[in-house]
Amino acid sequence: MIEKNIRKILDTIQIHSPYPEKVTLVAVTKNRSVSEIREAIRCGVKVIGENRVQESEEKFALLGALSVQKHFIGHLQTNKVNKAVELFDMIESVDSERLAGALNVAAKATGKVLPVLIQVNIARDPRKFGIFEENMEDFLKKALLWPHLKIQGFMTIGRLEADEAEQKKYFQALHSLFEQMRTAKFSGMDLQYLSMGMSGDFIPALECGATMIRIGSGIFD
Ligand SMILES: *Cc1c(COP(=O)(O)O)cnc(C)c1O
Repeated sequence: MIEKNIRKILDTIQIHSPYPEKVTLVAVTKNRSVSEIREAIRCGVKVIGENRVQESEEKFALLGALSVQKHFIGHLQTNKVNKAVELFDMIESVDSERLAGALNVAAKATGKVLPVLIQVNIARDPRKFGIFEENMEDFLKKALLWPHLKIQGFMTIGRLEADEAEQKKYFQALHSLFEQMRTAKFSGMDLQYLSMGMSGDFIPALECGATMIRIGSGIFD
C-alpha cells in the first residue's frame, strides 16, 4: 500500500506541478511506526517530517543510520530548540521572532547554520500559528539578527475545510509573496522552497507552485 501510494503521488507531481523536477515529497511520519518509516524510505522517500520533538527522538534512535533528511513541521516550543537543532536538518515551522532568536542561539552553540522555512498564516486562521503576510518583509529584514539561520523559504498550512477555489486563493497568495520577496528585496537570501499542500489539498498546492508537499495519511493510510 505504501509503495503504491508513493508511486501515485510521484505521478501526480509530474502531472500537476509546473516544475515537477523541483518538487520534494516530505513523508509526514508523525504517529507512524519505525517499520512504516523504513518502508517509505525503501520506496524512495528522501525526506520525512515530524511534529513532536520527543516522539522524533525515540523513533530516530531506532531508525539508526538510514539516509533520510529530517524536517520538523510542528509548533516548536522554545524550551525544545536545542534538541530540535540536534535532531533535524530543517525546521519548516519558524512561526515567531522569538522562536527564530532561540533557534539562532541553539544553532550557534552547535556551530551549525540551520536551514529553516518561515511559517506563514496565509489563511489568517486563528487556530494556526504563523506570521501574517503583511509582516513578512519586516521579519526577513531581521534575518541579520540570526546569522546561524539560513532562511530558505516559506511554509503554510492551508484551510483544509475550504473548497478548492478558496484553497487555491491562499496558495496563490503565498506563491506571489514568495516570488516578490525572492526576486526583488531579498535576492541575496536563497529563498528556494515553498512548502504547501497536504494529503487533502496537495494538487491545488502543486498547481500554485509548491516545491515541497507534506503528505501523511495519503502515504500511510
Ligand atoms: C500532519 C501534518 C501534515 C500531513 O497531513 P496529512 O493530512 O496526513 O497529509 C502536513 N503538514 C503538517 C504541518 C502536519 O502537521
